[in-house]
Amino acid sequence: MSSLLAKKVLVTGGAGFIGSHLCERLVARGDDVLCVDNFFTGTKSNVAHLLDAKNFELLRHDVTFPLYVEVDEIYNLACPASPVHYQYDPVQTTKTSVHGAINALGLAKRTGAKILQSSTSEVYGDPEVHPQPESYKGNVNPIGPRACYDEGKRCAETLFFDYHRQHNTPIRVCRIFNTYGPRMHPDDGRVVSNFIMQSLQGIPITLYGDGSQTRSFCYVDDLVEGMMRMMDADDTNTGPMNLGNPDEFTIRQLAELVIEMTGAKSEIVLKPLPQDDPMQRCPDISLAKLAIDWEPAIPLRDGLERTIAYFKSIL
Ligand code: NAD
Ligand code: UDP
Repeated sequence: MSSLLAKKVLVTGGAGFIGSHLCERLVARGDDVLCVDNFFTGTKSNVAHLLDAKNFELLRHDVTFPLYVEVDEIYNLACPASPVHYQYDPVQTTKTSVHGAINALGLAKRTGAKILQSSTSEVYGDPEVHPQPESYKGNVNPIGPRACYDEGKRCAETLFFDYHRQHNTPIRVCRIFNTYGPRMHPDDGRVVSNFIMQSLQGIPITLYGDGSQTRSFCYVDDLVEGMMRMMDADDTNTGPMNLGNPDEFTIRQLAELVIEMTGAKSEIVLKPLPQDDPMQRCPDISLAKLAIDWEPAIPLRDGLERTIAYFKSIL
């Protein structure tokens, strides 16, 4: 039996890549964790190692429908995150972000729970300000192929702040920048998983555009630490708060690093750059440093080593 004093924590999207690492950390510190997922991009195997824990429970549920449970804290992560997955059914993606936020916020309002939203650097679109501070309002194409995700997440942020102003709901909104690590879906089309899988299989590495676009890659353990610190901080820490690694790389540099680290014989082939693909992205994390004393500790090379080992183990 889990302790009656343990915090009851709901993690939506808990069987996904980031969610499964978050559940692991919460279970390890003794919280009573309810993981909710519809398994669209997440899998039971991501949390299989937690199923025997007395303080972990897994529920199949679609967050676009209301959920009636009693909780003290909510981490709202449910939403496909890779461009390939969120563009597969764009209407459902917007519903998941917007209806999912409304349902999670309604639950927070009824139970008095604190609620954290996993927003995204995509709210900045293709940014004209670099690196991106939280005060930058963004450059998003509202009718492009990425809009279902970007605008869905922007609307969710609006809902969070309106619930906060209108109902005093204690909110936390973190804007997550590109995060990678073990349990990323091998076929989700994101750049780190693609490059590692292609290298390990000795097939060509697909570089979109000329590879001069930039991203900043945060290892999942660092990110989860930041999310938990934000939740645990006092209620003035509503955010929005950037969480990401400020070390910026071109995508070509990433391809070359993965080839070097895997010893792959793969060649690099150029493919067209997808529409609205941001040309640069790098977080300004001054706020997170100041407010929750957080900055990433794991450099790209170390994180890639662990991620490559994971993909080797599942191949
Ligand atoms: P993921 O796709 O692995 O996880 C998302 C999870 O949500 C999956 O388990 C999926 O099955 C579940 N889900 C999707 N729709 C659902 C629905 N309607 N009902 C219930 N569950 C549903 O992606 P991730 O990388 O772990 O991302 C988790 C969260 O973090 C997402 O909200 C994403 O927008 C955000 N985020 C991630 C990154 C990143 O780089 N990984 C960057 C910015 C923001
Ligand atoms: N990318 C690439 N090859 C791939 C997958 C992605 O060159 O096989 C590029 C993509 O065009 C983008 C960057 O890598 O510029 C990051 O893409 P990802 O899908 O991981 O996430 P995004 O940051 O675009 O949401």
